[in-house]
Amino acid sequence: MTTIPPTAAPTPTDGPVPATGSGASAASPLPASTVAAARRRSAELERELAADPGRFRVMTGDRPTGPLHLGHYFGTLHNRVRLQDLGVEVFVLIPDYQALTDRDVVDRLAETMEGLLLDYLAIGIDPSRSTIFNHSAVPALNQLLLPFLSLVSVAELGRNPTVKDEIAHSRQAAVSGLMYTYPVHQAADILFCKGNLVPVGQDQLPHLELTRTVARRFGERYAPVFPQPEALLSAAPLLLGTDGGKMSKSRGNAITLGATADETARLIKGAKTDADRTISYDPENRPAVSNLVLLAALCQDRDPYEVAEEIGDGGAALLKRTVTEAVNTRLAPIRARRAEYARDMGYVRSVLREGNARANEIAERTLDEVRKAMGTLR
Ligand code: ATP
Ligand code: MG
Repeated sequence: MTTIPPTAAPTPTDGPVPATGSGASAASPLPASTVAAARRRSAELERELAADPGRFRVMTGDRPTGPLHLGHYFGTLHNRVRLQDLGVEVFVLIPDYQALTDRDVVDRLAETMEGLLLDYLAIGIDPSRSTIFNHSAVPALNQLLLPFLSLVSVAELGRNPTVKDEIAHSRQAAVSGLMYTYPVHQAADILFCKGNLVPVGQDQLPHLELTRTVARRFGERYAPVFPQPEALLSAAPLLLGTDGGKMSKSRGNAITLGATADETARLIKGAKTDADRTISYDPENRPAVSNLVLLAALCQDRDPYEVAEEIGDGGAALLKRTVTEAVNTRLAPIRARRAEYARDMGYVRSVLREGNARANEIAERTLDEVRKAMGTLR
């Protein structure tokens, strides 16, 4: 896995590169300017990280709604491992309560959570340096939601563009209260451990903004207990799925980390392209083709323009063969490690138990600070 030395220029997987899709589009409800500003800030953060990794604490996570996919890997997982290996303290949350935002019940929850644990271990999250935990096992974290809810207005919750997009894709007949309030819950997830850096995909930018607002308002109303965390975007802040929309666990368009090489080939074969035979890298005008080019480039640590030029007149068939080979080669060692860990599920479950014990200690301490700041009796 690649790590960048402090002076090296970012490669496609190691940090933001320009022109890989600009935001507001069929796949993203965010204004292009919001994404562009976050990309610029992420480039600065990369420099700050290289100079002083000890200043940062990373907190991020993935809903247990299905297996992790390439969008996760290149959007956030790869960055988590890179930051861990830079010496940054990393917290990884499986937000089991947030799995309920867009569904009434979560099918096979325990099995899905075990799958996430396997993926984390397989990609290189090291439980001796990083903490993996889940919502429902850390009561004090969840309690932060109550004072935090008092710091935001209903109007603010209603105009979150990611929430609106998720409502549009939800299969539920009625929108639950959790759908509108989970971004505040996410503020609790990040702030309980005073996380100040959050490696995420671009869909999370509005939530990060809300977390910053909550931290700031808590400081203004009570005491400055919390930092204002920042998003760290990767070179692929919005990887598209096989249908041309955001690759997503819940939308049936994902290539999962745990898929077999044959399944991967079949899924890529069915991926959306366009009618132009000459392959180019032009995310603005050719999002589906450019996404496949980017995927090959990310897997091979190469420049997407160079990959596109090499395929040239080979058309969609050669593009898909190239992507399939690149993805399967990149994921082969991860898939092998995943299978290895799956032989000892007792160990895998113990990783979560130990992570939860540590998260509970930290959450209790933070909740005590909050109680003190609010002047409540105990
Ligand atoms: P769901 O459809 O159930 O919401 P998801 O695929 O959107 O699943 P999440 O658990 O919501 O996955 O997201 C976990 C993390 O992965 C977040 O930081 C999110 O921004 C990032 N992420 C998810 N999908 C992508 C993607 N297609 N491209 C880049 N980052 C992504
Ligand atoms: Mg999601």
